[in-house]
Amino acid sequence: MIHFALSEEQKELQNTARQFAQKEIAPVALQYDRQAAFPGEIIQKAHAVGLMNLTCPKEYGGQAMGLVNAALITEEMNAACVAIAGMIGINSLACGPILIAGSEEQKRRFLLPLNQSGKTASFGLTEREAGSDAASLKTRARLEGDSYVLSGQKCFITNASYAALYTIFATLDPAKGSKGICAFIVPREAAGLSIGKVEDKMGQGSLNVAEVILEGVKVPKANLLGHEGEGFKIAMETLDEGRVNIAACGVGLARAAFQAALDYSKQRIQFGKPIGTFQALNFMLADMAAAVDSARLLTWYAASLADQGRRFTREAAQAKFYATDAAMRVATDAVQIHGGYGYTKEFPVEKYMRDAKLMQIYEGTNQVNRIVAGGALLR
Ligand SMILES: Cc1cc2nc3c(=O)[nH]c(=O)nc-3n(C[C@H](O)[C@H](O)[C@H](O)COP(=O)(O)OP(=O)(O)OC[C@H]3O[C@@H](n4cnc5c(N)ncnc54)[C@H](O)[C@@H]3O)c2cc1C
Repeated sequence: MIHFALSEEQKELQNTARQFAQKEIAPVALQYDRQAAFPGEIIQKAHAVGLMNLTCPKEYGGQAMGLVNAALITEEMNAACVAIAGMIGINSLACGPILIAGSEEQKRRFLLPLNQSGKTASFGLTEREAGSDAASLKTRARLEGDSYVLSGQKCFITNASYAALYTIFATLDPAKGSKGICAFIVPREAAGLSIGKVEDKMGQGSLNVAEVILEGVKVPKANLLGHEGEGFKIAMETLDEGRVNIAACGVGLARAAFQAALDYSKQRIQFGKPIGTFQALNFMLADMAAAVDSARLLTWYAASLADQGRRFTREAAQAKFYATDAAMRVATDAVQIHGGYGYTKEFPVEKYMRDAKLMQIYEGTNQVNRIVAGGALLR
């Protein structure tokens, strides 16, 4: 039987996240956005109530949830602010490679102290010349005795300025393409690691995004994840889970933008009637509600496949592009429904529109996610 009712435990999780997000995040979201401020205090509070490291097992300091339960929490947090929620949730991406390919010793040594202290990490794959074509990355790894020496530059790395550790992808030999790539755990204090330019972005102001510069950074052999040449596969597996997470972020933002538009359409009067009663806007609201509901169902479906241990690469890519396209469309329509006021900073919908745009770009652009989903259909 298929039913969409949440269990009592799931309702409780959802409620805890909703209360936290509406109390601690929503009221300060615009202020943090304008100041591009680091939400350090909010991250610590989220950690204290168990809203971080959702899918990481308990023995490594996480909450040991499946992806469906994590999606419930992620939707609530992102309905309040995508950028602050992104800084709270970054470990699910950044630590993914360690959970997927790390040895027991690596997980205990790196994840446990990070997660217990509420510290955060970063995922370093992208480079200036290697974005969608991540397999063409140029950051070099050279084996010297008992260490690997890393040299290169990563860009667009979320949380780079504040991370306590980085999962970094580098190649032993660019000529080998994806087969030459390795994944490494690099602690913040490693000599030769520095932070470059911090990006000044259109939206998601409090999501810190910066360059990571690696100049002869020495990491012990023990920091290699999996085997040499497995890095690209580890990155792609991490992104499968990451895409379900971003889909849930899209659902949260779309829901918030829809709710703002619905509320406004009931109270704004023109021609003596609430504007929501005009068929042009009423149909727009109907489409927005359908977009939110369908994005959520695709997200839960991909998450449930993952929780059952089944393949979910296509479904994750599909949920990601669909939910984030929905978020962009719903946010744009929410601005339209607010008329001129929608374009001012007096209402939250302009922020939703700016924030939504980024979701169509990171964790694989929506073009790339369509390539992943479309390719799987032909196999
Ligand atoms: C705010 C932000 C945070 C990010 N955080 C991280 C992070 O934490 N870690 C990390 O490693 N990376 C991160 N990224 C990088 C992000 O994943 C890349 O920006 C993204 O993968 C696209 O790469 P690119 O920007 O180089 O664009 P390009 O790859 O140059 O793409 C440009 C355009 O070409 C299109 N395109 C490219 N190839 C194809 C193709 N084969 N078919 C059709 N269209 C194509 C793209 O869809 C896009 O529209 C972040 C990016 C941003 C902006």
